[in-house]
Amino acid sequence: MVKVEFVVNRVFTSRTYILSTDDAEGVWLVDCGDVDKALEIIGHRSIKGVLLTHVHFDHIYGLPDLLKVYPNLPIYTNAFGVEALGNERVNMSRYHEMPINYRGDNVRVVSEGDRIPLFEEMEAICYETPGHNPSCLTFEIGDYLFTGDAYIPGVEVVTSLPNADKRLAVESKKRIIEMAKGKTIYPGHEIID
Ligand SMILES: [Zn+2]
Repeated sequence: MVKVEFVVNRVFTSRTYILSTDDAEGVWLVDCGDVDKALEIIGHRSIKGVLLTHVHFDHIYGLPDLLKVYPNLPIYTNAFGVEALGNERVNMSRYHEMPINYRGDNVRVVSEGDRIPLFEEMEAICYETPGHNPSCLTFEIGDYLFTGDAYIPGVEVVTSLPNADKRLAVESKKRIIEMAKGKTIYPGHEIID
C-alpha cells in the first residue's frame, strides 16, 4: 500500500506529493515546489525520482535545488514537458524571477500507457491528459490518481495560459472523471475557498 503525504507550496498553493511504502527505503515525488518542506517530511529517506504532472513553474520550481542534492535524479515528463523544462518562457519560470532552463539526461520521456516502476509491485501508469497544457500527465498509482491541473475537483480547468487548448481540456476532464471511479483523486493544488 502506497502512503501519500503532501506539502502545500508557497507558490499558488500547488502541492508536492511524497509517495512511500513501509518497506521501501526511497520515496517518489509528484511535482516539486518547496523543497525544504518536502525534505522535512522525507527525513533520512532517499528520493528515487520525480513524476511531473506538467511543466508549469508552480509544479517544478523546486527542481533546481533538488538537483543540487540529487544531480542524476530521474524526472518523468512527456515530450512537450522536456521542451518546456528547457525553456523559461514555456515553463513560465521567467515571470517568477527564477528562470529554469533545464536540459539533462536524467529527464525521461513518457507517453500514454507507459508504466514507471515505483515500488515492489507498484507502478505509475501514465495517461496524457492535455488541455491545461500539452505536458499534462495523469498518473494512476494503485487506487490513486494524480491529476495535476488537468482536473481539480470543483475548480474549472485553467485554459487561459499559453499552449492551453479548451477542447482538449474538456475531453481530458471527462476522461479523468471516468477513470476516477472508485479511486482517490490527488490534484495539483490545495483548494482554498
Ligand atoms: Zn499549471
